[in-house]
Amino acid sequence: MTALIVEDLVAGYGDARVLHGVSLDVGEGEICAILGPNGAGKTTLLRALCGMVRARGAVRLGEVSLTGRSPDAVARLGVAHVPEGRGTFMPLTVEENLRLGAYVRRGKSDVDADLDRIYTYFPVLKTRLKQAAGSLSGGEQQMLALGRALMLRPRVLLLDEPSLGLAPLVTRELFRIVQAINEEERTTVVVVEQNAHLALGIAQQAHVLETGRIVLSGTAEQIRADEQVAQSYLGYR
Ligand code: ATP
Repeated sequence: MTALIVEDLVAGYGDARVLHGVSLDVGEGEICAILGPNGAGKTTLLRALCGMVRARGAVRLGEVSLTGRSPDAVARLGVAHVPEGRGTFMPLTVEENLRLGAYVRRGKSDVDADLDRIYTYFPVLKTRLKQAAGSLSGGEQQMLALGRALMLRPRVLLLDEPSLGLAPLVTRELFRIVQAINEEERTTVVVVEQNAHLALGIAQQAHVLETGRIVLSGTAEQIRADEQVAQSYLGYR
């Protein structure tokens, strides 16, 4: 079954077109990696999927069209976006940030149970509940951003450069948790990532985006084996 269908997506800022007709499918419960150089439009693609950037073309969540919907509406339909730079509210406490994640959700009854679920993935957050988000380390802030997104009980999780600015050990731990969330909750994940090794390590499918177009698609294995990708993104051959 397909969770997310993207057809001929065209998007940009003002007159500047960034995406020139991007099409891709993401299978239900799958992890899909989006690779590509700086400025290729990876962030813009995620923004277009979650309604932050206006786009032409079609985006569907299963049978439901997301095209033209507001970020709020898209979130309510089950697509959670963890932006580059994380988007946590720095002056608010860890707990307040997490509770905010449930804000757009319809049923509010099980928020405490959801918090407990999130602490099992991120035990460190439980020890920091009353601390301001701004006082956390970069890795903890990324965990908070992910935790907040999970409070939405998303069907699809859009992750923008989760490794940005983090130490390799922290990044590996984070990717391990993303994989656990994907396996245990069957959450579909689309991850934009500079660190192609890590992304291909957890993804089943991958797409390479260059100057607003997909130039290569395949299984993680096929992409890893591609000569050009190996040279450009994996640092060998
Ligand atoms: P990076 O890894 O550097 O974030 P990216 O592949 O995510 O790269 P985007 O951030 O989507 O690329 O940027 C694609 C193009 O859109 C770039 O030329 C960038 O300058 C431009 N751009 C991004 N955000 C905006 C914005 N808010 N307003 C105008 N132009 C933008």
